Amino acid sequence: MDKILSGKPVAEKIKAYIKNRIEAEALRPRMLLIQLTGDPASDYYVQNIIRNGARLGIEVDLRQLDADTTQDALLSLIQNANQDPQVHGIMIQKPLPAHINESVIGSAVDPDKDIDSLNPENLGRIVMDMNGLTPCTPTAVYAILMYYGIRTKGKHAVIIGRSSVVGKPLANMLLWKKPFADATVSVVHSRSAQLVELTRQADILIAALGRAEYLKSDMIKADVVLIDVGINEVLKEDCKPSYVGDIDYKSCYDKAMAITPVPGGVGTVTSALLFLNLLRACIGLKKDNKSIDDFLGLIFNANHND
Ligand code: NAP
Repeated sequence: MDKILSGKPVAEKIKAYIKNRIEAEALRPRMLLIQLTGDPASDYYVQNIIRNGARLGIEVDLRQLDADTTQDALLSLIQNANQDPQVHGIMIQKPLPAHINESVIGSAVDPDKDIDSLNPENLGRIVMDMNGLTPCTPTAVYAILMYYGIRTKGKHAVIIGRSSVVGKPLANMLLWKKPFADATVSVVHSRSAQLVELTRQADILIAALGRAEYLKSDMIKADVVLIDVGINEVLKEDCKPSYVGDIDYKSCYDKAMAITPVPGGVGTVTSALLFLNLLRACIGLKKDNKSIDDFLGLIFNANHND
């Protein structure tokens, strides 16, 4: 197994699959990207989605609305897109202004077009092991484990963080009765009294807490597989910003069996998975009847046999 679990080859495989399938089947995947203007950082993300989508043959219909757009107007736009067969996926760029209730907006998105996992029904489908669109970041962790052939079956996976976008869905994915899941899962958080006892037992440790370089080498056992979800901005000595994960890479590298880098790890795969969700929505979840696990197995040619 590679010691550094780079996200780059994982993302490249996913993107190549998407591009080839779009070309081979003459598909026209189209997503509606709604942006409420006013946050300069979100312009950068939006332009990235449009540019990267175009490279794969994906049409991104950007709808920019004034920051004071009412919640009702936004809901009506989403409802129209839900009914429109030419729109396969819907994404609402965050952050949203304070007068917009994120959970009301998320729940309005048709679960089968919900490529950014805003609708709680998609978390429910994960819990019930039903086919559905899965959130990009936990799926990126799942994809990295599968791509590098890291068996989770019967292993102890410990997740630091219980958010609805990362920790909770990932915990439930790793509990799936599937060859690349089937783990024993512990989830720890800011109120966990025995956090270090559990992290020291982990065969696979996923850090998703949003604390720069929090996990040190004395908190892990030898030969653990470390997956770093965190992206934290820190200032370097020259006062320029740089990004580090939730794992102290330098102190943990020697002790671990394998580790994902930051940047270039989970985040790199996350962005490719938005387009895989769109492709799945375009093909039709019910028509295709393939789970994300089936899809990734196909893309990576992973051996699902024990
Ligand atoms: P979040 O909503 O802030 O949740 C953080 C979780 O970590 C919470 O459950 C919190 O516990 C727990 N936590 C915080 N401090 C802790 C501590 N000292 N000890 C133990 N647990 C602690 O964050 P998130 O959205 O899940 O994101 C987590 C990290 O992943 C962030 O760095 C974020 O930037 C990054 N991220 C990366 C990607 C990617 O594509 N790579 C995507 C999304 C997020 P409580 O529940 O008790 O408060």
